[in-house]
Amino acid sequence: MASDHPDSAIPDAIEMFERERERWREIDALLRRLLSRLTYAAEGRNIGLDAVLSDIRLATRNTFDEQRLTPLLDALTDAVAVLDEELAQPSREAALPPSPPLVPLPQAAEPVLDRLLLAILDRLPLGETAGAELESLRQRIVGCHDTRMLQAHGEALAALVARHIEQLEEAQRTASRLLDHVDNELTALTEHLDEDNQSRNDAVMARRELGERMAGEMLTLRERARTASDLPSLQADVHARLAAVGAHLATLREREQTREQAWYEHTARMRERIRELESSTRNMEATLKQKLQLADTDPLTGLANRRALEARMASLHESNAPDISLLMLDIDHFKSINDLLGHTAGDRALRIVAEQLQAALRPGDYLARYGGEEFVALLTADANEAMRVAERLRIRIGQARFHSQNQVVPITLSCGIATMRDDDTPESLFERADQALYRAKDNGRNRCEAA
Ligand code: GH3
Ligand code: MG
Ligand code: MG
Repeated sequence: MASDHPDSAIPDAIEMFERERERWREIDALLRRLLSRLTYAAEGRNIGLDAVLSDIRLATRNTFDEQRLTPLLDALTDAVAVLDEELAQPSREAALPPSPPLVPLPQAAEPVLDRLLLAILDRLPLGETAGAELESLRQRIVGCHDTRMLQAHGEALAALVARHIEQLEEAQRTASRLLDHVDNELTALTEHLDEDNQSRNDAVMARRELGERMAGEMLTLRERARTASDLPSLQADVHARLAAVGAHLATLREREQTREQAWYEHTARMRERIRELESSTRNMEATLKQKLQLADTDPLTGLANRRALEARMASLHESNAPDISLLMLDIDHFKSINDLLGHTAGDRALRIVAEQLQAALRPGDYLARYGGEEFVALLTADANEAMRVAERLRIRIGQARFHSQNQVVPITLSCGIATMRDDDTPESLFERADQALYRAKDNGRNRCEAA
């Protein structure tokens, strides 16, 4: 994350972009695996379709090659159209070229795809605009069991990811343009200082030269005074030499004034450039901070998202902070709230639960939406204190009045608690809290269990 110190903002930002890029590469690979699974899931229905699916798998194995994919997508559309025709007109089957018998789509694969897509969605650290798109995509995926629709959603997700990678790369280009700008300005500043040094040296030399000349003139005059035979010629000589020294002084003064003037102008220009530089660095820093904040925020609830939570856990672990407890909070039977009242009401319920949890926690505690209807709280608390807090949260949610369609909808949650041990990693702490949560569900829900 960008530090407050302007000097480290740009390197920090670049490091952040690198991390982001790596993460997007992983998501890209995951999406390709998903696409491959989807093609397997749709196989066995028609020879023509199978051939196209196999080509698509080959074309997306390592990267998305658009030029290869475009004709394949056309071929896919044709193959699916033929399939639709076959399904719509079974009586014409005999007239069609022989094809293997239709095999029903593997039903077990659909919920897997559904969950896989949702898991990918949960891992996407997108900003506000893309966040809204993601939410709408999520709502279309949740409860969707049609393989072909899921495939379309997978493609929409891939397009979203590609767009975000592009945006990141654009942001990276902006940062590197700013770096170039900073570099140019610093070079100009160094040159200015060099020039300034040079002109100071010139001035010192000129003064030394004047001093030497005057000393020379004085010597000559003293010699003339010693050897002069008559006063008028000595006087004339003195006048001539004084005039020469005066002229020399005037030239020197003039040169010094010109030099000073140039120096003032140059310095003013440099000051102006430095001011501009500071202001563009500040703007860049503010933009980066804003971007980072959006990337760490869950758009539905405004809480920290899973990515921010993972970063927080890693830094707590590194700092060996004592008495860290993790609460994993999962709303009970949330699916039925969606099913009965619709997704919009479900979303509203999620926002209310988030507000209630946040309000019940202490200022130093950390709350994140881990994904779906799961929240995670990180507390500075030992096991006993963590259990007390968890109970407080559970009771508060159970007592909150959530209204929808003119009725009060009861909401309860179950909680798994794990307290950091010496041999724990963030992953093992999480794992233990998750197991405790499963126990809470198995033991009847609306309860807290400690690991
Ligand atoms: P359990 O008590 O075992 O936790 O049951 P559950 O129904 O809460 O759990 P399950 O994992 O079966 O279902 C979670 C549901 O949460 C599935 C999905 O419809 C819903 N969900 C996930 N994310 C969102 C979201 O962002 N908005 C809405 N409205 N629903 C969501
Ligand atoms: Mg859950
Ligand atoms: Mg649940």
